[in-house]
Amino acid sequence: MAKLEIYQFPTRSDNYGVLIHDPDTGATAAIDAPEAAPILAALFDKGWRLTDILVTHHHADHTAGIDALKKKTGCTVYGPAREAGLIPGLDVEVKEGDTVAIGHADGRVIETPGHTRGHVSYHFPDENAVFVGDTLFSVGCGRLLEGNAPTMWASLSKLAVLPPQTEVYCGHEYTNANCRFALTIEPDNAALQARAAQVAQNDAKGAPSLPTTIGQELATNPFLRASSPEIQARLGMEGRPLGEIFAEVRTRKDNF
Ligand code: ZN
Ligand code: FE
Repeated sequence: MAKLEIYQFPTRSDNYGVLIHDPDTGATAAIDAPEAAPILAALFDKGWRLTDILVTHHHADHTAGIDALKKKTGCTVYGPAREAGLIPGLDVEVKEGDTVAIGHADGRVIETPGHTRGHVSYHFPDENAVFVGDTLFSVGCGRLLEGNAPTMWASLSKLAVLPPQTEVYCGHEYTNANCRFALTIEPDNAALQARAAQVAQNDAKGAPSLPTTIGQELATNPFLRASSPEIQARLGMEGRPLGEIFAEVRTRKDNF
């Protein structure tokens, strides 16, 4: 069996669209539906036919294209059961541990609430890929709009233990701005310094800094690095519970 092909493209102001395609069966899923036109254009470019949409959460910049895509393609829409009333066109409600099949590839649903009450991520272990919506960003994490810090910390902790080589596809390109903040929290982190330099180059070229990997995020992302002695010392929180340190980093980012 061939591996899934994964195609990422920019949409809206700073969102990404992602298509995943099983060459053996032709099954093709969109991760979220920020807007219909660029997704239809990407499908046309690739010669793929949309069969499914995997929705991470209910926000409009992830769902606005669903109705038009469904009308045009008859695709099946999967999304979090806990946000069922908020997602247009939802066909299949998913929850923790459920499996969604895209052709031969099985995606496992991981509930990752915090940004929204029912946010889910989709992990395809055999493809080494996870689609995390607005839970984890490169060198950042989603805002706590419908959840509190302990909820988000628990969600991030589930993603942090995926295999380090796992490729992480996020809903937005915020990497450059995230690096500027992260360097205020952990300025002596050499991996972060190197990542920031590389990301600045990417931005100058208009190139994406995503996908990232779990391993790269563990080395650079202050929201996953509550155990870092440098961060703990800088915040004056040596030895405090990691969830509290995460909460302080999140508060500082909100006020950055
Ligand atoms: Zn969102
Ligand atoms: Fe978003």
